[in-house]
Amino acid sequence: MNDIGRHTALVPQHGSRGDPWRASAPPIYQTATFEQESASEFGTYDYARSGNPTREMLERHCASLEDAQAAFAFASGVAAVTAVARLVQSGERLVAHTGLYGGTQRLLARLAQERGVEVVWTDLVDGNWRTAVRGARLVLVESLTNPLWRAPDIRLLAAACKAEGAWLAVDATALSPWLQKPLTLGADIVLHSATKLLCGHADVTAGIVATRDATIAERIGFIQNSEGAVLSPFDSWLLLRGMRTLGVRIDRQQANAAVVAEWLANRGDLAAVHYPSLPTHADHALHASQAQGPGTVLSFETGDETRSIEIVERLERFAIAVSFGSVDSTASVPCRMSHASVPEALRHVAMPPSDLIRLSIGLEDPEDLIADLEQALTATSSNATRTSSVPCGKAHAPRTTAHMIDNSVATIPRSRR
Ligand code: PLP
Repeated sequence: MNDIGRHTALVPQHGSRGDPWRASAPPIYQTATFEQESASEFGTYDYARSGNPTREMLERHCASLEDAQAAFAFASGVAAVTAVARLVQSGERLVAHTGLYGGTQRLLARLAQERGVEVVWTDLVDGNWRTAVRGARLVLVESLTNPLWRAPDIRLLAAACKAEGAWLAVDATALSPWLQKPLTLGADIVLHSATKLLCGHADVTAGIVATRDATIAERIGFIQNSEGAVLSPFDSWLLLRGMRTLGVRIDRQQANAAVVAEWLANRGDLAAVHYPSLPTHADHALHASQAQGPGTVLSFETGDETRSIEIVERLERFAIAVSFGSVDSTASVPCRMSHASVPEALRHVAMPPSDLIRLSIGLEDPEDLIADLEQALTATSSNATRTSSVPCGKAHAPRTTAHMIDNSVATIPRSRR
């Protein structure tokens, strides 16, 4: 039964195996504690932070999809990143890619400051990273990187890490195991913000860590239980439900994304379009050699930051939202949104271009998305209404501000605080 197809692997018979009532859908064990036989005889489960059947069903499923030995479900992607970063002790070196998600950069900068971890930032895609990796305990990269969708050479990095005795961790949020399995390319750890593609419906925040290494599994399991940022039974169930359609969702969203990317690239009036299936993408061939597809998110530059903001605000089919990977399309300006939490000291190397627009493509008809983009691009072309450029990192005042409290902390999204 090992050689099953990719779609079959996504819809295992979760329910009936081991459930006393043979429920055919995964049951939710919405309980914090489990009654024990006696004060000295304990069953498989005693307390839901340490183990819960619904969460474990999800964890077994994720391990199987990643070709891992073990997987762990956390309350958010950042909790998963935190658990992985905890593998590095005070005085040890953690090498991080310069363009990581803003929240990950903020977390690692704090770890360096407060826990004495030596965090070395380096470009793990294009840079001369071999020196930095020397003596490292952990190397952390995203595949693809967000929001420029660059592809690190995972096989090359894994070999270099192995030679140095370092662990390679790949945050594969942008691809999911449907499109890439970093453990099969030599990485030691794969992690996800399951809030994105794995969930697919933008209704759960969750994180997954998976590994084949018994030592890493034991340590991540200890951190999960002892620090307690576990995924709840209900969210585990929602994630299990969302993952049943992972393949069909991604295949369709990715096909839509490719149509939109090509349409944008063929216009010829944009400064750049970033999507790995475009022949102009810097990592086109490398990415094709280590992944099953380019993903569902793309980005483009207009050359004019103020115009980019106007375009995003004029879009009607795309909600302006951080995050990506849901069945409905969203648009963002990463410099001001997902990457606004990049620490001040890293801003000169780690910020996306200020005119960059990120589009997460959903299940809509691509013609509708293109029509919407067309109207927003046309309305802002040539001498549109813009007046002055707003520097990146400064709060941009939306046009309809009547309901907002001027300059109050309440108007600053929590993710940026
Ligand atoms: N990793 C990547 C690549 C992300 O984009 C994000 C969030 O956007 C995270 C980790 C953090 O995940 P979460 O928001 O689920 O905590």
